[in-house]
Amino acid sequence: MTREAHQKVSASHLRRDAYLYVRQSTLRQVFENTESTRRQYALREKAVALGWPIERVIVIDSDQGQSGTSTDRKGFQKLVGEVGVGHVGIVLGLEVSRLARNSTDWHRLLEICALTDTLILDEDGIYSPGDFNDRLLLGLKGTMSEAELHLLRSRLRGGILNQARRGALKTPLPIGLVYDPENKVVLDPDSQVQNSIRHLFETFERSGSASATVKHFREQGLRFPRRPRFGPHKGELLWEPLRHWRVLRVLHNPRYAGAYFFGRSRTRKRPGGGVEVKALPREEWTVLLPDAHPGYVSGQQFETNLKRLRKNAHAYGLERRKSPPREGPALLQGLVVCGVCGRRMTLRYHTRMGKRCPDYVCHSEGVKNATAICQSIPGAGIDQAIGELLVESVTPLTLEVALQVHEELESRASEADALRRQRVKRARYEADLARRRFMEADPGNRLVVDVLEAEWNAKLRALHEAQEELERRQAQSSQGLSAEQRRQVLALATDFPRLWRDPKTPQQERKRMLRLLLEDVTLTKSKEIAAGVRFRGGATRDLTLPLALNAWQLRQTSALVVAEIDALLDHHTEAPIAALLNERGFVSGEGKPLCGKTVQRIRRSYGLRKRYDRLRDAGMLTTAEVAGVLGVSTATVKIWRRRGMLRAHAYNDKNQCLYEPPGPDAPQKHEWQRNQKRSNQQSHAARGAVAPHRTNEVQCEA
Ligand SMILES: [Zn+2]
Repeated sequence: MTREAHQKVSASHLRRDAYLYVRQSTLRQVFENTESTRRQYALREKAVALGWPIERVIVIDSDQGQSGTSTDRKGFQKLVGEVGVGHVGIVLGLEVSRLARNSTDWHRLLEICALTDTLILDEDGIYSPGDFNDRLLLGLKGTMSEAELHLLRSRLRGGILNQARRGALKTPLPIGLVYDPENKVVLDPDSQVQNSIRHLFETFERSGSASATVKHFREQGLRFPRRPRFGPHKGELLWEPLRHWRVLRVLHNPRYAGAYFFGRSRTRKRPGGGVEVKALPREEWTVLLPDAHPGYVSGQQFETNLKRLRKNAHAYGLERRKSPPREGPALLQGLVVCGVCGRRMTLRYHTRMGKRCPDYVCHSEGVKNATAICQSIPGAGIDQAIGELLVESVTPLTLEVALQVHEELESRASEADALRRQRVKRARYEADLARRRFMEADPGNRLVVDVLEAEWNAKLRALHEAQEELERRQAQSSQGLSAEQRRQVLALATDFPRLWRDPKTPQQERKRMLRLLLEDVTLTKSKEIAAGVRFRGGATRDLTLPLALNAWQLRQTSALVVAEIDALLDHHTEAPIAALLNERGFVSGEGKPLCGKTVQRIRRSYGLRKRYDRLRDAGMLTTAEVAGVLGVSTATVKIWRRRGMLRAHAYNDKNQCLYEPPGPDAPQKHEWQRNQKRSNQQSHAARGAVAPHRTNEVQCEA
């Protein structure tokens, strides 16, 4: 202990207590680094040497096993408190800066020590924070200590990162992958484990949804393997029912596609303690090495799966994006966008005449705010129109054009590639030139050499950038189509319409095909339905469809039948018309055979002229009129008609008739009376009766 040190300790210091702060960062250090602990306690002797009685040296060791960087250290807080109220004459600590590994805490302690004139002592000496030089030194010690911690940590992390960049860092593997004795990643030799994982991927590919995969496993009574990393069963192979989150985890893990990754998430300390784990987007992962080891699916399939998952996820989102195709008959399920408000339209079914009919409904706002729905559009007509549009869009001609455009784009891509190569060449040349200039310069002329060196560096950077860009683009550009692929594409033109129209094709398949071709359909209902169809490639088509018919309209008799009835009414009454139409295969609006009553109803509701009026227009006369013309009674007229002596036409099914105007060949009253008399006499003679025959009283309206 120097004399100077003794000068710093005054009577006022000695009146107060000495505090020894003992700490080891981790529990392991507490057990293993006993030497350090011993040294920390040895400081007590120093305090005694400076004049503090041993019983006034108070030891604070409640922070054992707590890292200096942690904020929750009761002992340190107690120390600060005691210093603050002026109970402390000196603070003792091994490498005092380690009292607080956190600079802020340290500086606060120094501040308080300066205010209360408290000394600080470590193995190197004794300091008075009130003294400017001492305080500077202590501050520096604190900063150095923090820097040391940082360096240590970054060296550690750097080592880890280096290993990870090479893909050599061993990270925990998901089930189905294991390390072999040479630390290489291989498929789990357990064939059941392998098959289970393969089956999961296959089921997802087939069903297109994680829920369906879980359902399939449950229905088939299949279990999925798990190897716990912690707990009593650590490392054992357990078989459990498949859960939805596990499917998602498997599908999202690039290791199943044979890719090595590191740094998929970032952890951060929360202000109030605890740790926050944040998943990063793939571009921000530290390392991602494709094809690093064998896997269960190809990289491409892995991407396809993720895309499918994302689309499915949208289905539950606020906007309810495209949902996976379901079994229902609505073709555009999940693809319809409301033309009024821009939200996804949902689907409702109603039953009409025994068939399920879709309605596309936009009602998310309506449900939320208890207001009227935005719009509701019957879907049957739209589905049909879109189907027709697709069939007519996929023709040999359009496919040929598409292939040509593809080739055109490809040739443009190769042109761009050539340009990028040239850029690399040029950058390399310029970098070489800059290097030569630098080499040739006089090293003594620092000013010139510095400028040349900077220039060389800039050129090298430019070269590096150009090279990277070239490589990136080359990796992106796709291969051209082979002849076989071309043939397959063109075959689509004939296959597609056939498959589409085949009644055996399940509706779900039709929907899948539709999704390959269409992005979405925007529907707006006004006097007509406007449908904006957006194809996958970006092409659009606008369709205008009539509003769907109401129930009564759907039951309406076809115009053809009405026209037929109109024509037939000139010649027939209703019952014979019905018989005739049935014979020709016509049916009512409800699809039933016609009868006289139906024809009558149709005639009335379509305002067709009555047969009576038609006959009257054609100059036909009523019974009374004919009777008047001929000067006989109506009864006689009827008798004459029955006997075929007058021509008449029935105007209804009750056989009521109108008469053609009597011509010159019409029967005469006198002649008829004479004949009647004669025949009466004959019959009287035969029967011996006088009563006149009553048959002429019979009316034709029998
Ligand atoms: Zn809407």
